[in-house]
Amino acid sequence: MQTNFSLAQLADPHVAESEKILRKCVHCGFCTATCPTYVTLGNELDSPRGRIYLIKDMLENGRAADKEIVTHIDRCLSCLACMTTCPSGVNYMHLVDHARAHIEETYRRPLLDRLTRAMLAFVLPYPSRFRAALKLAKLGQPFAGLFEKIPALKPLGAMLKLAPASVPAASPMASPGIHAGHGTRKGRVAILTGCAQSVLDPAINDTTIALLTRLGVEVVVPDGEGCCGALVHHMGREEAALASARRNVDAWTRAIEQGGLDAIVITASGCGTTIKDYGFMLRLDPAYADKAARVSALAKDITEYLASLDLPEPVRKPGTVVAYHSACSMQHGQKITRQPKELLAKAGFVVREPREGHLCCGSAGTYNILQSEISARLRDRKVRNIEATGAEIVATGNIGCITQIASAAKLPVVHTIKLLDWAYGGPQPEGVSDNRAAVAAE
Ligand code: SF4
Ligand code: SF4
Repeated sequence: MQTNFSLAQLADPHVAESEKILRKCVHCGFCTATCPTYVTLGNELDSPRGRIYLIKDMLENGRAADKEIVTHIDRCLSCLACMTTCPSGVNYMHLVDHARAHIEETYRRPLLDRLTRAMLAFVLPYPSRFRAALKLAKLGQPFAGLFEKIPALKPLGAMLKLAPASVPAASPMASPGIHAGHGTRKGRVAILTGCAQSVLDPAINDTTIALLTRLGVEVVVPDGEGCCGALVHHMGREEAALASARRNVDAWTRAIEQGGLDAIVITASGCGTTIKDYGFMLRLDPAYADKAARVSALAKDITEYLASLDLPEPVRKPGTVVAYHSACSMQHGQKITRQPKELLAKAGFVVREPREGHLCCGSAGTYNILQSEISARLRDRKVRNIEATGAEIVATGNIGCITQIASAAKLPVVHTIKLLDWAYGGPQPEGVSDNRAAVAAE
């Protein structure tokens, strides 16, 4: 694509980066076919190509964002299906991140939108605030339907609907410390404790620590780590996102210096995509660029890390039929497609892949709160495809997808690690049946 930025504009490294990305786009439109918002809404401006034109026009003319561009960029899920499809290697992620930061700087949103976003940014990245908010949400839940009928209060209604019936207690295993591996040490990793997942389902990380230590891997919970910054990053709040990135880089750099790390293990693929991008996000900060690049290189999804180990034979082979839902951040953001399915199959599960697996479930960070109508349409489509597999259970590697799909599916939805842990000697996950007898009879 031809661009017309002035030399003065290109002196801004963010603009220069976006210009490089824009020039790679050849307008072919292949990406439209796999874009969930284009597939759902049918409007070119809600496709990757349409958004790329809007962003180009805004940046080239040095214009403040307007209502039209904000509408179409807000509807983007950042699912990155377009990046998987694009034959020209257009880095839509970095382009839309730049556009979101530009919108945040130059556009004044309506008051209630501003308040909702400020509240999400204040609460979600902080486990103690999020836990308290979920407890409060119970009081508001009877009014969720009413709020959803008032356009400006829709996000509040969506948030109340998503709040779980009960909030688990915080896990002591998430406190800073070291969990020694059993027997001969096979590795040493840090684990991201994160934010929302540690509140909604602390058992995911507890299970990960239990499995890794049983396999002989030492697990460090570093002091000072926290939210990866993805939630605010996707809202265009760059400074807040970079502050989270720097804090985590510091925490993991200390852990590297105090005994080395083979990997930084992440159990929420949405966080993994962002942490693997820390090197890019902090590239302009001379104090952090190298450290951030080292952290990004060490970041591994738990399934990616497990696949790199020489795993023993599983203790049991449950035979349960599992629909594997590949989170967008897993398959498009991190290009991890093979490992989770292969690990599940090796552990004795029968893995089925739902149709339209490339399409987002509509969770996408705060999307199911801020764009609840499109999100619900995508969720229902996803659930129909999952249920059509005839599976007994759904496995996925991202807490956002677990919450989203479980809000409409009749099947239990669990994190992949819980099934793997069960097969390798851990407890049977709640709601999951053991089909070994049926398999043996076949
Ligand atoms: S990130 Fe997803 S929703 Fe956004 S343009 Fe790309 S495919 Fe469409
Ligand atoms: S597929 Fe890639 S090159 Fe083609 S229009 Fe989409 S972003 Fe541009």
